[in-house]
Amino acid sequence: MSVTDNLEAVRRSIDEACRDAGRDPSEVRLLPVSKYHPVSAIREAAHNGYVLFGENQAQELAAKALEVGAEGIGFAAIGHLQTNKARLVAEHAVELHSLDSLKLAETLQRRCEALGRRLPVLVQVNTSGEPAKSGIMPAEVVCFAHALSAFDALEPRGLMTMAVNSPVDDEVAACFQRLARARARVRDEFGGWDELSMGMSGDFRIAIREGSTCVRIGTAIFGARPATA
Ligand SMILES: *Cc1c(COP(=O)(O)O)cnc(C)c1O
Repeated sequence: MSVTDNLEAVRRSIDEACRDAGRDPSEVRLLPVSKYHPVSAIREAAHNGYVLFGENQAQELAAKALEVGAEGIGFAAIGHLQTNKARLVAEHAVELHSLDSLKLAETLQRRCEALGRRLPVLVQVNTSGEPAKSGIMPAEVVCFAHALSAFDALEPRGLMTMAVNSPVDDEVAACFQRLARARARVRDEFGGWDELSMGMSGDFRIAIREGSTCVRIGTAIFGARPATA
């Protein structure tokens, strides 16, 4: 199967999951995750109309943006970001899905201000309670959102999470429900915050049922990543 075939199949599954959930397929965007895959695969997806790609490492994102940015292709930073790599994201990313600390917000604010740009951000929430996963706790979201309003170069767009990796659908769904409830609280307070970035190759159907507006899909489109990934 080619990247083109896979994109079509995944988009079809997303549309089906939307219909099953009584949702309009136009509410769910597909963000292909190109990490560890070559720009040739990115270009093939771009020929199918996909122009924004997820990358989880700042250096790889920057290198790819320099290579194909002029072709109208952009990148979303979706992985945990260390403050010392914030400059790369401020310079090269279209949006950030993994804002998880005020220290990072402060650094990004400074970098974006210096560049005279605004950066759309999603706040990553740890909905599984696993210590290995990044993100603020669901109960902290409203307080975090208040603090974020001090950083005018950052445009909050919504929340992002990675569900627990479990064969039990209900446990996965519970993570997505926690994110949806956190969004409801932050929306009540501020309005906006529309995006729910949740769902990957293995769990995007569940995420769509729970209200996802953006599924981040790598393996099902580009194939398995190298073992070092
Ligand atoms: C790699 C990655 C994905 C995509 O995962 P797949 O299982 O390959 O679809 C989604 N989100 C984040 C944050 C990732 O790092």
